[in-house]
Amino acid sequence: MRRFLVFLVTLCSAAAFGQAQAGIEVADLDRKADPCTDFYEYSNGAWRANNPIPSTMDRWSRRWAAGEANKDQLRVILDEASAKKNQPKGSVHQLIGDYYGACMDVARVDQAGATPVKPTLAEIDAINSQADLQKMIIRLQNYGFQVPFGVNAAPDNHNPAQVIANVQASGLGLPDRDYYFKEEPRFKQAREQYLVHVANMFKLAGYSDAAATKAAAQVMQFETGLAGATLDNVARRDPQSTDHKTTFAQLQKMTPAFDWTAYYSDAKIPQVDLNVEEPNFMAEVNKQITSTSLADWKTYLTWQVLHGSSQFLSQPFVDENFNFYEKQLGGVAELKPRWKRCAESTDLFLGEALGRGYVARYFPPEAKARAKVMITNILAAMGETIQGLDWMSPETKKKAMEKISTFNVKVGYPDKWKDYSSVTITRDSYFGDVMNAAQFLVADDRSTIGKPVDRGRWGMTPPTSNAYYNPLMNEIVFPAGILQPPAFSVKAADAVNYGAIGVVIGHEISHGFDDQGAQYDAQGRLQDWWTADDMKKFQAKTACVVTQFDGYYIEPNIHHQGKLVLGESIGDLAGVKIAYLAFQKSLQGKPPAPTIDGFTPDQQFFIAWGQFRGDETRPETQRLMVQGDPHPVAKFRVIGPLSNFPPFASAFSCKPGSVMIRPADQKCVVW
Ligand SMILES: [Zn+2]
Repeated sequence: MRRFLVFLVTLCSAAAFGQAQAGIEVADLDRKADPCTDFYEYSNGAWRANNPIPSTMDRWSRRWAAGEANKDQLRVILDEASAKKNQPKGSVHQLIGDYYGACMDVARVDQAGATPVKPTLAEIDAINSQADLQKMIIRLQNYGFQVPFGVNAAPDNHNPAQVIANVQASGLGLPDRDYYFKEEPRFKQAREQYLVHVANMFKLAGYSDAAATKAAAQVMQFETGLAGATLDNVARRDPQSTDHKTTFAQLQKMTPAFDWTAYYSDAKIPQVDLNVEEPNFMAEVNKQITSTSLADWKTYLTWQVLHGSSQFLSQPFVDENFNFYEKQLGGVAELKPRWKRCAESTDLFLGEALGRGYVARYFPPEAKARAKVMITNILAAMGETIQGLDWMSPETKKKAMEKISTFNVKVGYPDKWKDYSSVTITRDSYFGDVMNAAQFLVADDRSTIGKPVDRGRWGMTPPTSNAYYNPLMNEIVFPAGILQPPAFSVKAADAVNYGAIGVVIGHEISHGFDDQGAQYDAQGRLQDWWTADDMKKFQAKTACVVTQFDGYYIEPNIHHQGKLVLGESIGDLAGVKIAYLAFQKSLQGKPPAPTIDGFTPDQQFFIAWGQFRGDETRPETQRLMVQGDPHPVAKFRVIGPLSNFPPFASAFSCKPGSVMIRPADQKCVVW
């Protein structure tokens, strides 16, 4: 699942937000702005001016507000479940009620301090040999601590009907390799703050000031070695660069110092062929195993365990973790209230148990039916767009249409729910519950390795307000949590539904044909299905989008990396187009759609996108995004695609030369 994070649309939440959602929100417009100059400001400026980012958030818009309100709904379910004690063990109510109840028992969590994690730290401290070290790495991975690498289940790139093991680089405390090496002030500052943070965590675990400072320096040195062997964020986006099919024997040869037989046996993974995403990284791991002292390894593992556990321990740990990752790196001023963090934690570890109640209450069958109709229409619009391309040969078109025909669509929630009944959850120890649930999720994932792919599994929980495309399954997935107002409502006008959730649907479909998705065929294989000439033309078209986004600055010296945001930007560009085409088609044969406050249906469609997509993001979070998020910041997701799309300019009668119309020689059209 982790490897598909890059395909997500980062929508995060949307739910009933007070109004019936019949149309666009005219009160949110900034009518002083010119839609042909800055449509981001025009469509959403008044709302942002009147609704500053709350102290607990890194970004804010009407839909983010709705997303937080979504958690109020989860709270109702969780409060009810936790009020009923002594439910049958393993039942959905017992699991989510006791988990949430244990999390909300702040007095007990705080009183325990670092005690819950102490036995694990003692085991690390007792490491006395190479064999002990390797046993500890194996043990930690059973609980989801992916140090210094991770092994998860994934469909085989070359035979995606089959699940294999996937070995990936991991184990860094800073966001990515550039943070360890780059000299720009923001990276240097992050390194300085990180050293202080790591030392503070050691102090909380009982180290003296001097010992903690020394330990932090050792951690930095160790992680810098690992970071030097990892791919950067742009290189990682190329599926070819992480595709290394390997036999078990080759894996053992790649890292001769590590006992993979012991690992596989403990993890109950069959010794079938696997994929190693980053062989250079595994070579570095091997080097560290043979050349780094046991003392330094113990320091590193202690830090990583404290790091991974901090959110589930007492308040000083929670605060210290928040202070570095959210406050210093993300610019967020204040921690979210406890109940909200507990609801998020329940969703993270028991999401399909919590999701049952959520779906029953907040996702009526008519919403599922209406969403399915929209998805069918927008998929058809993608097919018509491909058929109509003047630059693609009939040969490649045929393959592209085959890919359209094999798209798998998931809406709302899984047909078969994950069974958590074997997980031990009690009110006695929140940390214990988290570890038990984590162990279950790791084992559940590994249990699929070596078997045919189960297409019923979901990579997101039902309350999640987000969506994804998975190229290996050629599937688009829309959890119930995103199919909510203001993105989508059975009561909303078509213009608004198509402009908001419709573009999201179009975006996910288009991921099947972005710079990554286009490398996977109709069966989900990482296999070239293009003629050489068509691929050349496609690459020229995508290069236009790279140039466009390279030119978008968040600060005078910091601009987007076009290659990092290419897939998401193709998704938005094509998503707007096919949602618009499907919307136009939906109007045929019906009485003319009404104008609202003088806005034509086309104008409503584009305003809906601006209002859904356009959020205000903290400067620190924008810097994080530009460096590591494949999604552009919201402002450019609004103006980027629309400035390439002639129907937008027509809808607002923009004059030639307007800022919102890119010059003809710079206009990007991919699909
Ligand atoms: Zn996306």
